[in-house]
Amino acid sequence: MRVNAYAAPAAGQPLAPIVIERREVGANDVLIEIQYAGICHSDIHTVNGDWGPQPFPVVPGHEIVGVVTEIGADVTRHSVGDRVGVGCMVNSCGECTNCRGGDEQYCQKGMVGTYAATDRDGTTTQGGYSTHVVVDADYVLSVPDGIDGAAAAPLLCAGITTYAPLRRWGAGPGKKVAVVGLGGLGHMAVKLAHAMGAEVTVLSQSLKKQEDGLRLGADDYYATSDPSTFEHLASRFDLIINTVSARIDLDAYLGLLAVDGTLVNVGAPPEPLSVNVFSLIGGRRSFAGSMIGGIALTQEMLDFCAEHELGAEVEVIAADQVNEAYERVLASDVRYRFVIDTSTLV
Ligand SMILES: [Zn+2]
Ligand SMILES: [Zn+2]
Repeated sequence: MRVNAYAAPAAGQPLAPIVIERREVGANDVLIEIQYAGICHSDIHTVNGDWGPQPFPVVPGHEIVGVVTEIGADVTRHSVGDRVGVGCMVNSCGECTNCRGGDEQYCQKGMVGTYAATDRDGTTTQGGYSTHVVVDADYVLSVPDGIDGAAAAPLLCAGITTYAPLRRWGAGPGKKVAVVGLGGLGHMAVKLAHAMGAEVTVLSQSLKKQEDGLRLGADDYYATSDPSTFEHLASRFDLIINTVSARIDLDAYLGLLAVDGTLVNVGAPPEPLSVNVFSLIGGRRSFAGSMIGGIALTQEMLDFCAEHELGAEVEVIAADQVNEAYERVLASDVRYRFVIDTSTLV
């Protein structure tokens, strides 16, 4: 099946229209007519070559929402007409300890990324900036009716990336959670932690987005450029979710944790961070990391969002605005996620 898409032809080149081939619908496959594809910062890193050589042309997009238009003979969990989503992975071995434990993203043989990855059949995956995609039904999520389609798309990456550590480290009533950075990931962390019943504080470089942060569900908002913030909030938080992909002073942030508190990095800075071990042992604190979430947890997150009537804050664009949107993401000029209306690809 030949379908319209937008691809980066080479590292650092602007994205341009392309026609790509999707595989035949196999026995356990689902054909999805894509409606929306979110623009994640990872898309930009990948096509710019920041994360190493890529199998160009690359069609990015791992925040996909659409409708099932065909199913394989063995598919039982999705039907034609269902609204569904696809996130950052489209396959894994399904047999290792991690896959069997519901942590397919940590598959010991490597999860198969939604784009620029080698699928288990040897083909290269192409992502959601496209009109259609064929995906193994086990990696396709149900998108409940309660969420707007465009607002649901970013949940498949930004949503699960923040939901997973909030759940893992027990965000809920009586817990004080801080979110570092109010971007695509951070704004979801604030909404989710608030919906879970936690007391939420945003730690942002400046107070520029304070009004937004409070509207999204934060109880407090502090500027990290102000040194008194770190004195005032010392030993305050049970959990800190760091969504920033740049270098931060880890020891300063660890000092904001209560005894047994955990600082979880979901942002991925390119250079190593240093930590003074006294920042950890002085309060039995932990420094941890987390990457997206398994399929079952992603479904739980979508159901949670529908129940709490929450989605991402999005700006919907046409496909031919993608390059401009990339520039704006790099300039932090988006509140809070661009989503491509893929019907504009026709
Ligand atoms: Zn992403
Ligand atoms: Zn596995």
